Amino acid sequence: MEKKYRIFDTHAHYDSEDYDIDRNEVFKELKENGVIGILNCASSYDSVKLTDELTKKYDFIYGALGVHPENADELTDERLEIIKEMIKANDKIVAVGEIGLDYYWEENPSREIQKNALRAQMNLAKELKMPVVIHDRDAHKDTLDILKEFPEVNGVVHCFSGSVEFAKECIKLGYYIGFTGVVTFKNSRKIVEVAKEIPVDRMLVETDAPFMAPVPNRGKRNRSDYIKEIIEKIAEIRSINPDELNIQLNTNFFNLIKKDI
Ligand SMILES: [Zn+2]
Repeated sequence: MEKKYRIFDTHAHYDSEDYDIDRNEVFKELKENGVIGILNCASSYDSVKLTDELTKKYDFIYGALGVHPENADELTDERLEIIKEMIKANDKIVAVGEIGLDYYWEENPSREIQKNALRAQMNLAKELKMPVVIHDRDAHKDTLDILKEFPEVNGVVHCFSGSVEFAKECIKLGYYIGFTGVVTFKNSRKIVEVAKEIPVDRMLVETDAPFMAPVPNRGKRNRSDYIKEIIEKIAEIRSINPDELNIQLNTNFFNLIKKDI
């Protein structure tokens, strides 16, 4: 890599089996390429345990623990209690996530089950005074309604896919907007509009690795050093210096998690 940023990837899934063959090697290369930290976001209940383990094994991995809407039916009261104790016992767990609503996939748990899991985990974040990592796919209105029920909680709406108006509503509630490689895709007008319009101090960058690799690596397995492309794209959209943007983005994330890394 010709240019080095200090990259913090605010959303990735390195517990995914896609990295089982070469995880150590990938992490070594990421560090060499300027990645200073990664927030690994749990998705399933199994992934909660894997994420916790990753944070203990690798110094630059932090974690968000929670159950994704696709797996909302895995969340029981007992498991929620276990997640709570795991968060309390590990100071590298800095958020509850990823949690939210996903109405895109028909085979997902019912909307009621998803909403119950989201509310239960929002309550957990409120109790632990922690930020949340929100997943919202094709569920903007219901997501916003539930976020409004918890005015004490803030966080990030990750892989943001809504309009400028929706972004502004989320920001008003104290949320940050997460940008993935989608902002580099040729036909993504909507997210480019959002990148143009919202304040730079409400933006975060993320890979959602192994998914969503930015151009010119679209379609490949994603990795955190590719965030360079996202930073440079947003800097271009805003006509600002990418190095300054990089520093601002890191500050934004550290403000959210109330930690300096
Ligand atoms: Zn994710």
